[in-house]
Amino acid sequence: MLRIICPYCGLRDQTEFRFGGESKPRRPSDPAALSDTEWAGYLFYRENPRGLLNERWVHSYGCGQWFELVRDTVTHELKRSAPLVDLPGPHQVSDD
Ligand SMILES: [Zn+2]
Repeated sequence: MLRIICPYCGLRDQTEFRFGGESKPRRPSDPAALSDTEWAGYLFYRENPRGLLNERWVHSYGCGQWFELVRDTVTHELKRSAPLVDLPGPHQVSDD
């Protein structure tokens, strides 16, 4: 089981959290301008890299806040946990 650092509450068991998917890609600003293939790519295709991955998590059995976690997909080592302070929803994330 992972031990995840919520940026608001501190270190907690993974069972308190819900995975929200890969942080990127960003939601297109004008989805109607995309082709069906481009829209399907945004909706369904992810990189699934071997190594570092930016992920969204929500502390669903804690503070209820969304945040971004950088996790190594090979070792599950957690590199960084940061709040999504300027984001209106789970489909948009900050750059860094
Ligand atoms: Zn929390």
